[in-house]
Amino acid sequence: MRYVSTRGDATPRAFCEILLEGLAPDGGLYLPQRYPQVDQATLSRWRALSYADLAFEILSLYIDDIPAADLRALCRKVYSSEVFGSEVIVPLRPLEAGLWIEGLSNGPTLAFKDMAMQLLGALFEYELARRGERLNILGATSGDTGSAAEYAMRGKRGVQVFMLSPQGRMSPFQQAQMYSLVDANIHNLAIEGVFDDCQDIVKAVAGDLAFKRAHRIGSVNSINWARLVAQVVYYFAGWFQATRGGDAPVSFAVPSGNFGNVCAGHVARMMGLPIDRLIVATNENDVLDEFFKSGRYRVRGAAETHETSSPSMDISKASNFERFVCDLLQRDTARTRALFGPLLAHEGGFTLDATVMARCAQFGFVSGRSTHADRLATIREVWQRHGDLIDPHTADGVKVARDLRRPDETVIALETALPAKFAETIVEAIGTAPARPAALQGLEERPRRVTVLPASVERVKALIAAHDPA
Ligand SMILES: *Cc1c(COP(=O)(O)O)cnc(C)c1O
Repeated sequence: MRYVSTRGDATPRAFCEILLEGLAPDGGLYLPQRYPQVDQATLSRWRALSYADLAFEILSLYIDDIPAADLRALCRKVYSSEVFGSEVIVPLRPLEAGLWIEGLSNGPTLAFKDMAMQLLGALFEYELARRGERLNILGATSGDTGSAAEYAMRGKRGVQVFMLSPQGRMSPFQQAQMYSLVDANIHNLAIEGVFDDCQDIVKAVAGDLAFKRAHRIGSVNSINWARLVAQVVYYFAGWFQATRGGDAPVSFAVPSGNFGNVCAGHVARMMGLPIDRLIVATNENDVLDEFFKSGRYRVRGAAETHETSSPSMDISKASNFERFVCDLLQRDTARTRALFGPLLAHEGGFTLDATVMARCAQFGFVSGRSTHADRLATIREVWQRHGDLIDPHTADGVKVARDLRRPDETVIALETALPAKFAETIVEAIGTAPARPAALQGLEERPRRVTVLPASVERVKALIAAHDPA
């Protein structure tokens, strides 16, 4: 399998060549040259596998430059009950007739990002050791991504993480979750500023090419292909659990922000997994819902990006969306380049015509939107009627799934976080705080390791240099 860019760079690259990179050199995103096809016989064979071995089979179709025995060992180490709390890894539970919830949030940070990030940590450590190289991961976070990255990279040889967060602006739980990591290779930098200041600093540091090269600066953002392909696995695992020996198609409802999660569903469907529909759920930041309803993709400015009670879906543009549009355009990379380069930069968006949009339906895509009031009502109703407590992001998915589900359709709603992470909204919905998993009790009282810095590019560079003697 070789990878090419959505913007036309057709140089074929192997998996491990793109693993440690972000964007392709032409600014595009990497896609496999084609999607491997999975037939009925293969599906039957895979049904009996453990999650780790299923992950190995699927990843093997995309990774041919890591010896099979090594890749299998990595999968077994990552997708284990020690990391995810059970051998099932992604347990499916019934909510009501025709609607299931697939638990993707049983990893160390209680959000689905662990599913991919834990694998990424293992792959990075493996590949860096093989090359005899080191990597300094630099990122900015206002919540889930930063902690998932830190928990995946802690203690990994060859890797250090420098994670910028806006001082005092994350929830007390999120701050405690990140700052209580005291591993020597994890550096929490609380920046005196807002999230945008953090992001600007990351861009400035990564934009200094001499510094970037000297200090081997890398990232773990959601456009990394390895993260996406890791997420393909749980669509298969969900389908196996919902169909129990049959081969009926099922649909997935996906709380969406940067379009990474549902893009993995698209890849699974393109591989031949019997997925009926992919139901994209957004919150008030409805860039994606607007696109699927109108064909218009209109990026929002900061003033138009709302702070909501499902904060991990508060996006102004969907960074993984370019992959999907490239497929919609039947891999017309010149056109993809024009849309995501000049048009996005100068006009803040683009509109696709009816012929192209008809392909969204062929790909199974539909969308809906959920608001703060919908989230509260859904959390309360699901709690009172079913005794099942769901987090605000999952509630967006359940709400839209219920709105769009057809009679006889089986829908799996993806649980993208646990309620314990969002106590404030849960209290607002049901009047009491969610229970905490035992491992996270007393989190706020643990010792912390965090350096407070002014919003200064030079100070951040100096700190990295001090920890990375060239
Ligand atoms: C990141 C995240 C999302 C959005 O996922 P995308 O892949 O960005 O679409 C939804 N819910 C939670 C809890 C998240 O952390």
